[in-house]
Amino acid sequence: MPKDILSMYEHELTEFVLGLGEEKYRAKQLYKWLHKGASLDQMSDIPKKMKEKLEKEALIPGVKAEEKQVSEDGTVKYLFRCYDGEYIESVFMRHDYGNTVCVSSQAGCRMGCRFCASTLNGLKRSLAPSEMLSQIYEAQKDTGERVSNVVIMGMGEPFDNYDNVVRFIRLLNSENGLNIGCRRISLSTCGLVEGIDRFADEGLPVTLSVSLHSPTNEQRDAIMPVNRRYPIEVLLQSCRKYFEKTGRRISFEYALIDGQNNSEEDARKLAALLKSNLPGMAIHVNLIPVNPIKERDFRRGEKKMTENFVKTLEKHGVNATVRKRLGADIDASCGQLRARKYETNAGNQA
Ligand code: SAH
Repeated sequence: MPKDILSMYEHELTEFVLGLGEEKYRAKQLYKWLHKGASLDQMSDIPKKMKEKLEKEALIPGVKAEEKQVSEDGTVKYLFRCYDGEYIESVFMRHDYGNTVCVSSQAGCRMGCRFCASTLNGLKRSLAPSEMLSQIYEAQKDTGERVSNVVIMGMGEPFDNYDNVVRFIRLLNSENGLNIGCRRISLSTCGLVEGIDRFADEGLPVTLSVSLHSPTNEQRDAIMPVNRRYPIEVLLQSCRKYFEKTGRRISFEYALIDGQNNSEEDARKLAALLKSNLPGMAIHVNLIPVNPIKERDFRRGEKKMTENFVKTLEKHGVNATVRKRLGADIDASCGQLRARKYETNAGNQA
């Protein structure tokens, strides 16, 4: 069986290259090429004989752009096709501190959050570390710009693909790879507590974002099925442990849905909840006016409601910002391009 060499750590690649009967320094050359997103043809200092062996023994499971949308603000959204025909989405964003790619960790998702498009067709499969890296390498090649920040906030639940996501982060960190430090990486979870607890012990000080979206279990149960497994108080206790172990501030995401969770009372309850469960902890709430998806009837409230929500949180001592909407004109809410692709394909088959 050919091996996925783009998912290997450098020491594993070295073993592999030695196993092919090649010299050790070739592994470093190969590793550097792989993590520039190069194909075998492009590896100019790798001898032909070695390439022939690699063609037989190795795989580089990259992704290929099938569609691309460019926003007026420079945001680029990609629909990528995997080797087996699955589709995933990634977004390239320009910020004043550098370029960020929002990476998908799974094709589809099984968490079932009601407002989210990624979950509409369930989980197809988890992505390999190579497929997560390849999203970044392809965006770099396409834009001709370097990526300095990564957010694991695309399709899928990263802690439902725990081992591959951790390996992906370590590969991102590697000196001969992109060499992106943990402080430039964020990971967003819907609240798989076992994942958060395990992750706190990895020694990877990544910024953790937790999708909270409601101040009460009753409300959260209704929009996030995961809450029935890990209710809010259990989730927040795990967040507290993460903070104590890593010293990293935690960010809470909160999608504002009109008439469901965006009232002043909701804001007051949210502030009280966070302050009582996480005393003394640096907290930030990231408010996202919900992106309506046509399969569900969730709407965003008026701007006034959002402003009032922020004011109420701040009055009660909770730091909050409304997420800057990059790519608003290309409906860059993850899962939407892919959901459309599914419809078209289903239509073609009918
Ligand atoms: N599984 C991870 C990553 C998901 S996407 C998680 O749940 O955190 C990143 C964020 O976008 C999550 O906070 C998710 O809840 C939010 N999101 C998904 N669909 C949305 C929509 N239609 N409008 C606004 N936010 C949405």
